[in-house]
Amino acid sequence: MIQKKTMFFAISIVVIATLAGAGGFLAAEHLQHPPAHEKSQNAAHTVPEQEGDGHDHEAEVSDLDRPVEEMWAAFCEHGIPQHQCDECRYEIGTVKLAPSILGDNGLVRTGLPEKRQERQQEHRLSGEVQFDDTRTVRVASPVSGLITRRFVTPGAQVAAGSPLFEIDSPEVTEAKGSYLKAKATLSLATQSAARESRLFAQKIAAEVDVQEARAKLAEAEAEIAASRGRLVRLGLSKTDVDAISAGNGSAVLNGLVVIRAPRKGTVIEGNAASGEQAEAGKELLTLSDLETVWVMADVKEAELAVLGNGSGKDAVVEAMEHSFTGRLDAVAGRLSETTRTAKARFSVNNADGLLKPGMFVSVRLFMPAKGEVLVVPKVAVLADEGRTFVFTHKEGDYWIRRPVSLGASIDSMVEITSGITAEQRIITDGSFLLKSDVLRGKMGAGCAD
Ligand SMILES: [Zn+2]
Repeated sequence: MIQKKTMFFAISIVVIATLAGAGGFLAAEHLQHPPAHEKSQNAAHTVPEQEGDGHDHEAEVSDLDRPVEEMWAAFCEHGIPQHQCDECRYEIGTVKLAPSILGDNGLVRTGLPEKRQERQQEHRLSGEVQFDDTRTVRVASPVSGLITRRFVTPGAQVAAGSPLFEIDSPEVTEAKGSYLKAKATLSLATQSAARESRLFAQKIAAEVDVQEARAKLAEAEAEIAASRGRLVRLGLSKTDVDAISAGNGSAVLNGLVVIRAPRKGTVIEGNAASGEQAEAGKELLTLSDLETVWVMADVKEAELAVLGNGSGKDAVVEAMEHSFTGRLDAVAGRLSETTRTAKARFSVNNADGLLKPGMFVSVRLFMPAKGEVLVVPKVAVLADEGRTFVFTHKEGDYWIRRPVSLGASIDSMVEITSGITAEQRIITDGSFLLKSDVLRGKMGAGCAD
């Protein structure tokens, strides 16, 4: 106890030095506490002590538990209202502050508690990471053939249009052949139509021949369009097709087709290897843009009503000691019959790529609450006797500490769930300077010797 008391004196000295150094804003009077041994043993609020040591602090009713008006009506041993007594007011948690130390330029600032929308309610769910289906493609081979090259391995990041596989397909060879044949037919039909037109103009050919030549030309044009379309469907780019038209050497009749990434993403799996046979329509690999992933979480039946309209609400996904921001997309309309849970789907930002499909994660979902709460700066709240309190304005220069119950912290503010009203002015900053005023005397109570 002696050690503790010494510590508090030391703190008081620091406070006095601080106040004096800052220009003596505090009225000196209120810093003058009675020496501890003069502390009244007969304060009105002290319940009868047990005979003997006279050190029974447990029996003393804290000012935090006494009604303010009762304390305000009390007289001290000096025969004056206790709050007016420079020596005794600390016993009722009261300080007297000169107006000069308050305000923007003072050491101590005051203000009203702020009203805020009640802190969002948090729901905790557990879930599993999955691909975002809207950002995932399963790349299949458009043709059957031999895989001659493989350009990527699982885990690789690819851009849209990057080559994935090269396949040598007889179908492609054949389609190229058909295309070249159609080109030749078109060329002939074009010449024929031109010649018939010329002869008709010279009245050598009949009109019916011209019409026939034009019909064949139209047919050849349709055929070429169909051939081009078939080549594109088989996986050739328009550039590849044009290269055939231009008659670029070996490109013309080989059966090679390059399968390209239809979108940017990460190669998730791809078991097809060089030398294997690819089948038309069979998946070669999965490509997913993992910058956003889905988390599928189980929602209990009882929670459904709360989350029902929660689409778009913010969520935080936690895994591997990291946090990821997300959003509730949707909650499934039906419950699983076995687990009695429904699936909630979250879109989660995974720009760093740390979340992998299949990983188990914890989800914190925030739902706005309906009511308002009072918040005060954290620095306004002090602790004593295992209780938390703030200094509230009583009247004139008098401020009195009152117990408050705390809710959640929000940045530098903390919710006050009970103890003060929105209209009650409090010390918002600098209250720590006053704490020792109401504590120092207490520490001395009955323990001076
Ligand atoms: Zn007194």
